[in-house]
Amino acid sequence: VPRDSDHVHAAPALPAALRGAGRRVTRQRREIWDALVAEPDRHLSADEIAERVRRRLPLVNPSTVYRTLDVLVDEGLLLRTRLGADRAFYEPAREHPHHHLVCERCGRVDHVHEEALGDLAGRLDAAAGFALGGAELTFFGLCADCRDSEPGSRTTPGS
Ligand SMILES: [Zn+2]
Ligand SMILES: [Zn+2]
Ligand SMILES: [Zn+2]
Repeated sequence: VPRDSDHVHAAPALPAALRGAGRRVTRQRREIWDALVAEPDRHLSADEIAERVRRRLPLVNPSTVYRTLDVLVDEGLLLRTRLGADRAFYEPAREHPHHHLVCERCGRVDHVHEEALGDLAGRLDAAAGFALGGAELTFFGLCADCRDSEPGSRTTPGS
């Protein structure tokens, strides 16, 4: 089974994407984008993004960063995934859906692709006559590392 880490996730360049939308490229948008692209496998919160932008643009008000994040999400350039009321993270939008696996112990966030879910759409159709749209799902549980560190939780073959 191919893992998501084997998968190439090219993010579009911000200037091209913004020009396509007829928008002006501001320094701040570029810094937000660069911060996200610099850590493609992290899922950054708005606070973490604001902190990174302010390292480069110390005069920027965090609330301006938050507003700009909202605009970039509305424009389809960024994806915001909400994890309950008080946690949300941002990443560059990709061309194909990703489901998120969130570790409730260490906060780590991983991706899995459609294949990992099997024929979910077919099962929902059969069970409820429901036509699944382009949903991206978020699952909560324990990541592999945290699971391994749980006493007696699972035995890894060969270790
Ligand atoms: Zn992918
Ligand atoms: Zn974990
Ligand atoms: Zn993600």
